[in-house]
Amino acid sequence: MLEAKNLMVFYENMLALNNISIACPENSIVGIFGANSAGKSTLMYALSGIMLDIRKKEKMAGGERITLSGDILFKDQNINDMEPSRRARAGIVLCPERRRLFKESSVLENLRIGGYLATRAQARQTLEYVMTIFPALEKLRHRLGGFLSGGEQQMVAIGRALMAQPKVLLLDEPLMGLSPLMQSALMKATRSIQRETKISVIVSEQYARPVFPIVDYAYILENGSAVMEGTKEELMDNPDVKSAYFGVS
Ligand code: ATP
Repeated sequence: MLEAKNLMVFYENMLALNNISIACPENSIVGIFGANSAGKSTLMYALSGIMLDIRKKEKMAGGERITLSGDILFKDQNINDMEPSRRARAGIVLCPERRRLFKESSVLENLRIGGYLATRAQARQTLEYVMTIFPALEKLRHRLGGFLSGGEQQMVAIGRALMAQPKVLLLDEPLMGLSPLMQSALMKATRSIQRETKISVIVSEQYARPVFPIVDYAYILENGSAVMEGTKEELMDNPDVKSAYFGVS
């Protein structure tokens, strides 16, 4: 459904993504694992098209040159030049790193902002769904974004992305800074969302452990290169993966 083929991204002379090819088939959850600076966010920006905006801004400001090559395909169509807003409308929705909620707006307002691409009926229905999947948000409807815990903020961030009616949801490091309990709850919720709505999910994280139980397939990035890939079972059976990403040997 969403694919990157031979993707290369340079920030000026620095190679951030080195010939990356990944595929997220319909109805699946794909994990992207890698340490700090491995290139996870760069990949998410390339898939969502935000990289085109970043590149434009840098160019206008006379800043560093960002070079992109390779292909992004959505439903087998090349979308290299498709603006991020059009990609979102087509169903590629990014839930960015660090959540980026509107801190001065309530939970409800934050969620409704996400629904700008939806019809009124869709927005109403999805809002109800978000409250079912994250019941903790029900009593926080009127709480300001800035007064939520990290976990609650992440629920709102995922809920807001769902309001945009995604076909593929891109979750960039959704678990950063959260307790193990919250991490596990969020990943279970993500699995339920995928099963119930049939949307596909690409989720990036530094640590594979909390995400692994829910992925169908995963890629491991190191310094911008995909060094390993496989189904959950294949990766679990690999001793290198075990010691590097699970701390067991
Ligand atoms: P993190 O876990 O820290 O978010 P990441 O895996 O998401 O890491 P990226 O943010 O994609 O990694 O960064 C990949 C590399 O590209 C890093 O070396 C980073 O410093 C560099 N980089 C990212 N954005 C820019 C930019 N706008 N200009 C220059 N270099 C950048």
